[in-house]
Amino acid sequence: MRASVWNKSPDPGTGGRSAVVTAVGDPAGGAGPVPAAQGIDLVKTYGTGPAEVHALAGVTVTFEKGRFTAVMGPSGSGKSTLMHCMAGLDQPTSGRSLIAGMDLTSLDDTRLSELRRDRVGFVFQSFNLIPTLTAAENITLPADLAGRKVDRDWFDHLVIQLGIGKRLRHRPAEMSGGQQQRVACARALINRPDLVFADEPTGNLDSNASAELLAFLRRSVTEMGQSIVMVTHDPHGASFADRVVFLADGRVVAEIGKPTADSVLERMRTLGA
Ligand code: ADP
Repeated sequence: MRASVWNKSPDPGTGGRSAVVTAVGDPAGGAGPVPAAQGIDLVKTYGTGPAEVHALAGVTVTFEKGRFTAVMGPSGSGKSTLMHCMAGLDQPTSGRSLIAGMDLTSLDDTRLSELRRDRVGFVFQSFNLIPTLTAAENITLPADLAGRKVDRDWFDHLVIQLGIGKRLRHRPAEMSGGQQQRVACARALINRPDLVFADEPTGNLDSNASAELLAFLRRSVTEMGQSIVMVTHDPHGASFADRVVFLADGRVVAEIGKPTADSVLERMRTLGA
């Protein structure tokens, strides 16, 4: 594995930690962190015979409630597969995924859809907004699909926090990438999910839009107790998290707590050596 594979944005920066980490619960105190999601010996195999690929080769990992976890690793190391299997968007070949203690693999399609809708938010790198709907309609879509009344106070709170109040009547094509991604974040949070998975949410954003989004994600953990798992290739982005889990070849190979951009970069270099 080469360091350059990891290192699409090598500028370590200073990260967003200083203002934020202290508000997060101390895992050493009390009963310790509560799991928002757990993957237990997750295996995901694509293809057969010589074409067989072990996208996940036995991943056991816990993402704690009310914490911000970054997942890093070279391209092809299994990050997206892990997110999809843990969010119930894809099924592992073997192993189990639990959300709030519920085993996704034991649920039928209807209950799995309900759990995904009610308890999981997903932010895609490519935004995945519905082009024919306005920003406001995109945000309320998960609540509308659930036949649930939109919590207007929560909607307003998200819109203010994300600074998208002036864009609510716009369709995605009329918004910048940063604005679209902020709408996608509001959509992911509108049902107050137990856990938000964000798969390289800043991958298509410029550095200003990226910094704003990372700060929002950080605030939603610190101030609202949200649980977030974010795939990133960027040490600066990872420095907003409480913990970084490193994947390589479909396995967890390292993790660090209280990351800084420098400590993340250093670990990436070690793993890439
Ligand atoms: P990452 O997100 O870290 O880049 P992925 O989870 O996308 O990694 O992919 C892990 C491995 O699984 C890669 O080798 C990739 O080519 C393979 N893979 C992912 N999705 C598929 C698929 N639908 N069919 C076959 N191989 C796949």
